[in-house]
Amino acid sequence: MPLNLVMIGPPGAGKGTQAARLRRQYGIPKISTGDMLREAVAAGTTLGQAVKGIIGAGRLVSDEAIIAVVRERLAKPDVAGGFVLDGFPRTVAQARALDEMLKERGPLVVVVVDVPELELMKRLTWRRVCQDCGATFGGVDTPELAGDANAEGPVESGRCRKCGGPLVQRDDDSAAVIRDRLKVFTNQTAPLVDFYRGRPTFSLINGLQAPDQVTADLNRAIEAALALDSGRNRARA
Ligand code: ADP
Repeated sequence: MPLNLVMIGPPGAGKGTQAARLRRQYGIPKISTGDMLREAVAAGTTLGQAVKGIIGAGRLVSDEAIIAVVRERLAKPDVAGGFVLDGFPRTVAQARALDEMLKERGPLVVVVVDVPELELMKRLTWRRVCQDCGATFGGVDTPELAGDANAEGPVESGRCRKCGGPLVQRDDDSAAVIRDRLKVFTNQTAPLVDFYRGRPTFSLINGLQAPDQVTADLNRAIEAALALDSGRNRARA
């Protein structure tokens, strides 16, 4: 059965890290709208030029634009066996559009990774990314902000442990923009919890735990959601 997974959580909750783990574990593509938009900016495409200022200010790209990006991505053959979505949906309008796109494609498993705001401020302020390979690192005080792919743990030097590239701060990880992104999350994305809460395939996970514990909780939630759905299919057959 395909695993169609949506990960919701505030900036700095560790979604990207966990999504990368699940990608490896389940062999499904990770679709990160933030990464896709940053790639578009770096490549200087029409979309990239249109969204550069919006991302830099920590605001949301229009529903219409991001829904078009995701619709196109979900039409590709590699997602037929499932996917993990990281960073989408971020508004109720996006969530409705996603339901529409996924009709006939099996259940949507929704996990919300919950982390208190003070902790998020700390993690994002410390976060560094490798300019060359994109790996993410936490600060010395935030080993729980594990990195992307295999590059996990705190920053030990100014260099990436994976490829040796220079570590830099993301443009939108400055203190003022972090505050704005957290506000945007509270106002626009947090309402998604109520949108999805009533579904049997919904789970809330404590993102304050160590990364391995978060992964374990995610796995438990995913297995339970998939078992529930296959039980229903059997009952229907
Ligand atoms: P974060 O660390 O805030 O979770 P992401 O890498 O997911 O960051 O996204 C970075 C930026 O890209 C967001 O602040 C926003 O401007 C834009 N973006 C990403 N996904 C979406 C989306 N689903 N809807 C609107 N804007 C988005």
